Amino acid sequence: MIFIGNHVSISKGYLAMGKMEEKLGGNTFAFFTRNPRGGNGSVPDPEDVQVLRAFLKEKQFGKLVAHAPYTMNLCSAKEEVRTFSENVFREDLRKMEDLPGQYFNFHPGSHLKQGYEAAADQIADVLNRTLTENQTTTVLLETMAGKGTEVGKTFEELRGILDRVERKDKLGICFDTCHVWDGGYDIVHDLDGVLRHFDEVIGIDRLLAVHLNDSKNPCGAHKDRHEKIGLGEIGEEALMRVVQHPLLQGRPFILETPNDDDGYRREIALVRANMKE
Ligand code: FE
Ligand code: FE
Ligand code: ZN
Repeated sequence: MIFIGNHVSISKGYLAMGKMEEKLGGNTFAFFTRNPRGGNGSVPDPEDVQVLRAFLKEKQFGKLVAHAPYTMNLCSAKEEVRTFSENVFREDLRKMEDLPGQYFNFHPGSHLKQGYEAAADQIADVLNRTLTENQTTTVLLETMAGKGTEVGKTFEELRGILDRVERKDKLGICFDTCHVWDGGYDIVHDLDGVLRHFDEVIGIDRLLAVHLNDSKNPCGAHKDRHEKIGLGEIGEEALMRVVQHPLLQGRPFILETPNDDDGYRREIALVRANMKE
């Protein structure tokens, strides 16, 4: 089996996120550790955090997949942006320890004009300064569509970052179906081949979470426009093969499709109907 859920808002607190996801039929969820477009992180109420922890245990939720804000760019060409981003990363990673043992996913970043190698060094430097032996959170690098100068558009680019980090035991990959497709990996006609390539380059054991999205654009478009399941270029059949793939069982699957609550409820039900036991 897999765990399925979507992004829920942290604005009403921690337990409210779990309750909302339960209402939608999910058993995992994603949330932004702070306003996705920037801003300060609020301090959570410790009691609220404890109640959510009990709720997640009681309802047997899978690991959560928290998402870093989009304004965080660890490999910006501007030093002040890198400094801001490192502070956000460090603070949010610390905050994640309130909910022990979950995932914290981030976009590797956009290198602007610096090129990949300099960017990979900068990203890895931050990881080497912030990851600690005792943290229970696993940090996930997200596969990217390759829009603009995004780092992480190929498995090799992600591998290059992993290679530079000392505490590899704290790292994994979040496989975003829209991004991988837009990046040029044909998961419609050759899902097995794409996962085999992932295994050869990175190792399938590092693929710890999936963002389940259709794409508005054809394979290799490098656009990153998500679509509802079945309404895009990937299609429902191919996405359900992802859900059923033996190598991906046990992972949290997060919908990032452009839906309202009813839409998410329907997509979660669809995934559940296609899930292997
Ligand atoms: Fe993302
Ligand atoms: Fe994503
Ligand atoms: Zn995206």
